[in-house]
Amino acid sequence: MSQQQYALEKLQAIQTRILEAERASRRVTGSVTLIGASKKQSPALLMAFAEQGLKDVGENYLQEAIGKQIELGSTELKWHFIGQIQSNKTKLIAQHFSWAHGVDRLKIATRLAMQNPHPTPINLMIQLNLDSEDSKGGVSAAMAPKLANEIHEHLSALEAPAGGARLRGFMAIPRARKSIQDQKAVFARAKQTLTKTNRDFGLSLSELSMGMSSDLEAAIHEGATMVRIGTDLFGSRD
Ligand SMILES: *Cc1c(COP(=O)(O)O)cnc(C)c1O
Repeated sequence: MSQQQYALEKLQAIQTRILEAERASRRVTGSVTLIGASKKQSPALLMAFAEQGLKDVGENYLQEAIGKQIELGSTELKWHFIGQIQSNKTKLIAQHFSWAHGVDRLKIATRLAMQNPHPTPINLMIQLNLDSEDSKGGVSAAMAPKLANEIHEHLSALEAPAGGARLRGFMAIPRARKSIQDQKAVFARAKQTLTKTNRDFGLSLSELSMGMSSDLEAAIHEGATMVRIGTDLFGSRD
């Protein structure tokens, strides 16, 4: 099978899963954005997917992502940084990505805003650490509303040299759960955090980045607006 044919079939299969999950949860068709989580996948494969209609890609590692951007040249792809953000990397992230999903403190948000060279704001997502895992970044659901308000207020008052940054919502990478009930329960906590943040502080954050290959249906049921799919889209990473 050609790479083009492979990309088309994989893309259609995931788009069908998303569509069916939207229908099953009475969500508006097209309300969930597919982000291809393309770490460790080759630029050629990524190009094949872009040619078959993939619009959004997520990368975890900065140098790997920049290498792919150079190899791919001008595509219409929208790039999301979905890895952990160290403060010495914010300048390159602001240059090379239109979304940053791993924001976990005010300093990171401020640096991304100040270092964004583009006329449009970089979109920020605060990472939730829903299972209190030391190995993962992010803030607890209890701390998240206050941090979101702090970041929102600070970004509104900031005089950035170019487009600055805009807080859009939350992202979560909960640990894998087997049953769909357990998956739904943890994603529901992310949704509740978003609702509480908007209610307590009068914000209008709308985005929830959650759901991967094995739990995208549960995430969409609980209100995901973006799912990040690696294995079931591109194939295994080895
Ligand atoms: C790798 C990765 C994904 C995709 O995981 P799969 O299980 O392969 O679909 C999603 N989000 C993040 C942050 C990742 O690192």
